[in-house]
Formats: sequence, structure tokens, C-alpha cells
Amino acid sequence: MTFQQVFGYEPTVRYSAPGRVNLIGEHTDYNDGYVLPFAIDRRTTSDIAPREDRVIRVASSFDPEGGPVSLSLDDLDPARMDGWSAYVFGIAWALREQAGVDLSDRTGFDVFIDSQVPVGAGLSSSAAIECGVALAFSDLWELGLDRKSLARVGQYSENHAVGAPTGIMDQSASLLGEQDAVVFLDCRTLDTAVVDLALEANGLEVLVVDTRVEHAHATGGYKARRDSCEHGAEVLGVPALRDVTVDDLPRAQELLDDETFRRVRHIVTEDQRVLDTVRTLREQGPRAIGELLLASHASMRDDFEISVPELDLAVSTAVEHGAVGARMTGGGFGGAAIALVDREARDRIAAAVTAAFASAGYREPTVFTVHAAQGARRDA
Ligand code: ADP
Ligand code: MG
Repeated sequence: MTFQQVFGYEPTVRYSAPGRVNLIGEHTDYNDGYVLPFAIDRRTTSDIAPREDRVIRVASSFDPEGGPVSLSLDDLDPARMDGWSAYVFGIAWALREQAGVDLSDRTGFDVFIDSQVPVGAGLSSSAAIECGVALAFSDLWELGLDRKSLARVGQYSENHAVGAPTGIMDQSASLLGEQDAVVFLDCRTLDTAVVDLALEANGLEVLVVDTRVEHAHATGGYKARRDSCEHGAEVLGVPALRDVTVDDLPRAQELLDDETFRRVRHIVTEDQRVLDTVRTLREQGPRAIGELLLASHASMRDDFEISVPELDLAVSTAVEHGAVGARMTGGGFGGAAIALVDREARDRIAAAVTAAFASAGYREPTVFTVHAAQGARRDA
């Protein structure tokens, strides 16, 4: 399906934005901590043409119905948005509600979405739509918003138009990513820095193992972890767990019940691991971060308890077959693991993981390589 097939004429512009992988820093975002994602070389394109009336029409190759969904700029309200089209309409709404843009004399667009980012695999297909559309609307309406502002618009839309309580990591990666680099994001100050990943020069690649496991309790588990973190911060008398350091952990252990303590220990040590990863990348390069990735995985498995046997098997098999490091990535309870591997070892490690899943009787995983790529841009 194409724009031409849906709307019967050619689009005037094409924008695209990538999905993302989080290299390290899991569940730290809502604790005001640090994350280290990168934009990947799988993108979602938005082909767009301006209209002369107030209507936005959207269609996506992902939608089996195929036909466009319409909403007038006069009717922008989350109550009138449902399904996937809320990811597009929500951006226009958030530009008005969050960024204060006056849309009263604006005209609409026809938008066709086509994506190479797998949906629900933890690679943020959602931010890939939001960020391409946000950049396009900002350009076409000549709003001149910078990328950090667009990231906030994307997050606001996802939180309040779509209704998913997510942090700002995904949008930051999708908008600020650069080739062969990671985006270091402080989720409290929203300060960002692009840090060289330099995988190419070091002969390394990142392998993604999508377990295709999605547990029914993912949403409940996520909420329970957030609640534990909030509870921990409250007992420790800090605004967020970001304010607890590794040196504070012995005292935290005295004050907290065992489960809350382990949740807190994950967040506190994970924040430190993000900082250590940034320093290590800058001082020694990517080959030196393997231990940090492994420690992150162990912490999520044992302290935060968000891994599943499939993710543990992906990580242990990759490491046994020579990966520099590996860890589950994303919210947990399923989804994907990443492994940092030598380019020459990539196929061998991928085959070993697939074989291990088969012997364990698990569903066949989808294994593929990602490269750190440029963020949202205009393509044509
Ligand atoms: P993730 O971001 O991890 O892939 P989410 O649940 O956050 O998973 O977002 C997935 C949702 O985003 C889909 O259910 C759909 O509503 C929307 N979406 C993703 N990709 C597309 C696409 N190509 N076309 C239309 N909607 C999409
Ligand atoms: Mg998402």
C-alpha cells in the first residue's frame, strides 16, 4: 500500500523517524535517573501532503482496514481518537495543548505511515510514528520547535492522547539519535549528550533477539515496579530514587523490606551503571562495557525480577558463544534482549541462540542486527 493508492495522488514530502534500543538504564526513567538509548536503522516513514481544509486524514500499511481515518482540527480531543490513529492525531493535539501552538487557522494534511519497526517488540514503533509526524507538522506549519520540545510533545501525546504512561526516553532517542552514537539522557533535567558508540571502528554490532514473548502481566508488573520505587523513595525521604547513591544502600537495607530494597538496589546500581557506561565509552570504547551490560541483566533478573526464562537464555547463550556483553532491554516480562558481538561472530551467535530456543522448546525468536542511526529527518 502507498500514499498514492490510498489518497489517489502523490505526496509532497516524506519524513522518517527511527525506533530505538536502550543500551542500558532500565526502569530508571520514572525514577528521575539516567538512560542511554540509541536510534536504530529501522524507520517509520510519513508521506504527507497538505490539504486546503481543516481535516487530517491518516492511513497506515499496518492497518488491515487500509482506509484513511479522518479528524478535523476543530475536533482535536483525545476522546475522539482511538486505535493507532491516535499516535498521529495526538501529535496535533499535543502541539496545541502542550506546546501552546494556535491551530485555529491551520489547514490539515493527508498522511500515510509505513514502518520497518516491528510493533510491540520493545523497539518503540510508537515513538517512531510520533517523532516523524511531530517533526513534519512542526516544519509544515513552520512552528520552528527544537527537537527537545518535539520530544516533549511526543511524550505528552503518548501519555494523554494514547494513554500510555511512558517516560521521554523513546522520543529523545528517535529525535536526537546520531549515527553510531548513543543519547545520554538525564530524565530529571532532560539534559542530553550524544556519546560516540564507535561500534563500526571496533568491528562490533548489536544483535537484537526478539523473544516474541509477551506476558499478560506486563502492564500490572510495570505498575507494581513503579509503586515499589515510589514507596522506596518515600521511606528513604527523597523525591526520587535518583537521589539515592550506591553508598546509601546499607542504610536503605535497614529501612526497607527485602523486596522493596531489591527494587531500590536495581534502580540505584543501574543509574550508576549508566554513568559508568558513558565514562567507559568515552575513555575506553565499546569493548569495555560488556561487564556493565551483564551486571545490568543480572540486576533486572534477580533484584527487579522483570526477566523471563527466554530472555535469560538469550543472554547466557550469547555470552557463552563469545558476545562481549548482553542484557534484556525494555520494560521486561518478555520483549527483546541485546547482545554486543564481534561482526564476524554475529551469525554464529545468532544461530546458537536460535538453536538454544529450539532445544528449550521455546517459540523461535526473531534475531537481527541494528546499527545506531540518525534521528528523525526529512527524506524528500
Ligand atoms: P512499541 O512502541 O514497543 O512498538 P507500543 O505499544 O508502544 O509498542 O506501540 C505500538 C502501537 O503503535 C501499535 O499498537 C499501533 O497502535 C501503533 N503503531 C506502531 N507502528 C504503527 C504503524 N506502522 N502504523 C500504525 N500504527 C502503528
Ligand atoms: Mg512504545
